[in-house]
Amino acid sequence: MKRIAVYCGASKGNDPSYMSEAYQLGKTMAEKGYELIFGAGSVGIMGAIQDGVLDHGGSAIGVMPNMLNEKEITSEKLTELILVDSMHERKNKMAELADAFVMAPGGAGSLEEFFEMYSWSQIGIHQKPIAVFNINGFFDPLQSLLSHMIEEGFIDAKYDTLAPLCDTTEALFETIKHYKPLGVRTYD
Ligand code: AMP
Repeated sequence: MKRIAVYCGASKGNDPSYMSEAYQLGKTMAEKGYELIFGAGSVGIMGAIQDGVLDHGGSAIGVMPNMLNEKEITSEKLTELILVDSMHERKNKMAELADAFVMAPGGAGSLEEFFEMYSWSQIGIHQKPIAVFNINGFFDPLQSLLSHMIEEGFIDAKYDTLAPLCDTTEALFETIKHYKPLGVRTYD
């Protein structure tokens, strides 16, 4: 395993620890030899992870759709920039390049990208590791929602550990390393 796609915010969040922890994630990725696959933005959490990677000799590959590229927030420091025609193409490219998927704090864009990988795992399009970087307990409410969906019979209980919340970078890398595919969903 060499490349991790990180889905995360184009905003900074209100607490400075979101940015500093994101930077630490990037630093640890570089130190452990993982390449970053991300949305190519220089802003928010995306920018912090990228800086952490690049400041420590790592590699950051950004995939940017032309329509967002015109907003002038595309990072100029990338190891490699891949320009694509649409958001759909971007997500496909990121999914194809990455060996594992991580979500860090963000908004609707991050959720949308991450849950595509989460649901694709359930229907067997991939069986790559998935994990959530739970800075400041940011995703605790999401865990509550997923548990509720399991309790109410809309997600199979075997996916209880499909998107494990990791409070530290160490826990995140351990989770990815020891990930066991959960298999394809069945229907009753
Ligand atoms: P959000 O979580 O809503 O801030 O959206 C962040 C995610 O959506 C990132 O992972 C990007 O892939 C995408 N995205 C949203 N806004 C931008 C932007 N200005 N530049 C690059 N990617 C963006």
